[in-house]
Amino acid sequence: MSKNPRQEAISKISDYIQEESNFSPFETPVTELFGSKVFNIDLMRERLPKAVFKSVKKTIRDGNPLDPEIADIIANAMKDWAIENGATHYTHWFHPLTGLTAEKHDSFISPTETGKVILEFSGKELIKGEPDASSFPSGGIRATFEARGYTAWDVTSPAFLRDTTLCIPTAFVSYTGEALDKKTPLLRSMDALSEQALRILKLFGNTTATRVTTTVGPEQEYFMIDKNFYNLRPDLIATGRTVYGARPPKGQESEDHYFGSIRERILEVMKDVEADLWALGVNAKTRHNEVAPSQYELAPIFTTTNVAMDHNQLIMDTLKKVANRHGLACLLHEKPFAGINGSGKHNNWSMGSNDGQNLLEPGHNPHENAQFLVFLVSVIRAVHIHGDLLRVSISNPGNDHRLGANEAPPAIISIFLGDQLNDIIEQLEKGEAKSSINGADMKIGVSTLPHLPMDSGDRNRTSPFAFTGNKFEFRAVPSSLSLGDPNCFLNTIVADSLKVIADQLENEMKAGSTLEKSVQKVLTETIKKHKAIIFNGDNYSDEWREEAEKRGLPNFRTLVDAMPSLINEKNIKVFEDHKVLSKRELEARFIIQLEAYIKTINQEGLVTLDIGKRQILPACLKYQTALSKSIQNVKAVVGDSEMTPQVNLLKEITVLINKFIVALDSLEDALNHDSGSTELEHAKHFRDDVIPKMTACREVADSLETLVDNELWPLPTYAEMLYIV
Ligand code: ADP
Ligand code: MG
Repeated sequence: MSKNPRQEAISKISDYIQEESNFSPFETPVTELFGSKVFNIDLMRERLPKAVFKSVKKTIRDGNPLDPEIADIIANAMKDWAIENGATHYTHWFHPLTGLTAEKHDSFISPTETGKVILEFSGKELIKGEPDASSFPSGGIRATFEARGYTAWDVTSPAFLRDTTLCIPTAFVSYTGEALDKKTPLLRSMDALSEQALRILKLFGNTTATRVTTTVGPEQEYFMIDKNFYNLRPDLIATGRTVYGARPPKGQESEDHYFGSIRERILEVMKDVEADLWALGVNAKTRHNEVAPSQYELAPIFTTTNVAMDHNQLIMDTLKKVANRHGLACLLHEKPFAGINGSGKHNNWSMGSNDGQNLLEPGHNPHENAQFLVFLVSVIRAVHIHGDLLRVSISNPGNDHRLGANEAPPAIISIFLGDQLNDIIEQLEKGEAKSSINGADMKIGVSTLPHLPMDSGDRNRTSPFAFTGNKFEFRAVPSSLSLGDPNCFLNTIVADSLKVIADQLENEMKAGSTLEKSVQKVLTETIKKHKAIIFNGDNYSDEWREEAEKRGLPNFRTLVDAMPSLINEKNIKVFEDHKVLSKRELEARFIIQLEAYIKTINQEGLVTLDIGKRQILPACLKYQTALSKSIQNVKAVVGDSEMTPQVNLLKEITVLINKFIVALDSLEDALNHDSGSTELEHAKHFRDDVIPKMTACREVADSLETLVDNELWPLPTYAEMLYIV
């Protein structure tokens, strides 16, 4: 008898020969490797005429468009470097609204009259590309306008080499200038924030800063399982998550995985991932086991947001590719396994000025403290007014399984400040407070802030948006999502708060008030209005849910609940005021995101049906037949009276099988149901009808899994996938 494919997979893994990392720090020192595949500022200095280099540097520093006059010279230098390093092709690498990255490779070759080729790359080709845009989602933007779109180099993110292709990070827009990607609005939001933050810095007497950029350090969580198991799971292949699977006998309860010693096989993957990333100039810094079995994390050192966004896509892509080389599958889905911790991407975010200040770092003297508090309170105000937008920005179908699942932050957006900072804020609210837990008088411009601890002891792991000493950690971001939206939305709403507060301060000072008095007044008023967003307690508790409702904080449980906030009047206004996204662009995104949701759930429904009908049901029927045959045979020997328990087992299995058939039929009906005329109605049908019916199929099948002969069960089990590596 041939082996069950699961058992074959297991035997392949035990025969598995350790695939060693091909990176050796002795052969290639990390300092040499780092950035070796990036056309960075040093290479530009080396290879460009002085005047040209100066002009590019200025462009990068100020975030301006590139001067077309010098584009040819840069393109040529870039091409020479790329070819010396083995490149044959180039691509404009961009972030379409699918949330992935896209690349179309063109070779450098250009024919000569003698039938040979030369390798060419012009300034025009560097600055602008014209991918056939029609297959990317545009939410109707291209339907009524020019069908083409073009890509434009984001000069602030350097070009890099992947394999034999020169990749030029780009933004993707329509010919009418509307954003068709995740990068364009992010860059616009960074400009908006810079403009407003500089106004505040000026009020504090700063004459050196000319640009404020937001910085991000994202902590990427992921699972890795053996490819042999992955290949036997059509659900993982099609949707990234298991739609069937009973809990393993050894659950996560033991929690012995977190920060545990890393398995050799996994470590070899991590080494190769890091080597690839370092060559691409990605600051991969931290690697460790995560809480769930077979779950890991990779965190880079923070950098400018648009570069962090590019790097994060490279991290996700590299993890997948390298895992595959080592016979593993990397799962980036938010919830690959029900009942086991999901994956997120903690988005550590701050603002920094180009004269070297972290604007969310408490200062050393009263003047710096006052400035810090203005920036801090601006964020508090922004999150209070636009928490609904932040909730939209972290919505994807996978995160619906994760948010509020007692492992991830809840769907209610609130801010954690920690005891000390909270005490300071409470004093500021009262105006000139006289005491604090540290004995410091919080009088703006006069008193010094107590030293704020930065260690993680003070961390509230249940908060979706926590202040962690010199930055905010936006913890609700899902693992597979592009960093584009969460950061674009965050930058925009903070830019808006900074604008309002700068206006107020300027008005106070025009009316003759001092900076200190103005700051004190504006902060006190702002805190009074917006402190409802601050919550330092347990975000998982039922009391918080009730309390949050009393405070008027929205609790959007699912993507479908959250989405309409994207296009409410308040939020359209904030995006339009800061020229980040127009109403039309927002409406397009609203449609695209709902369409993506519908597609995803539909796919999950279809794969649930397919596996159910063609794999699980046949296995169950085989077992049922075997059992009934066995009962008949045994009965003939021992007689009826002894058979009751076995007959009961057969009955139990029969009841479940019948239930399963009914559940599958009902899911099939729901999938075929023509629902609603708008995307929102359609999405609601998937949320309210399809998902519960999928869950119903799963519940029955998972019960059957615990009863049916292990030899017959067609799908690798949770225990196998999570523990056999
Ligand atoms: P954790 O305990 O959560 O791992 P760390 O201090 O190690 O905290 O930092 C986590 C992430 O925060 C890292 O990726 C780090 O680069 C990032 N980070 C630190 N400072 C900043 C900053 N100013 N802006 C953005 N991210 C930052
Ligand atoms: Mg963290």
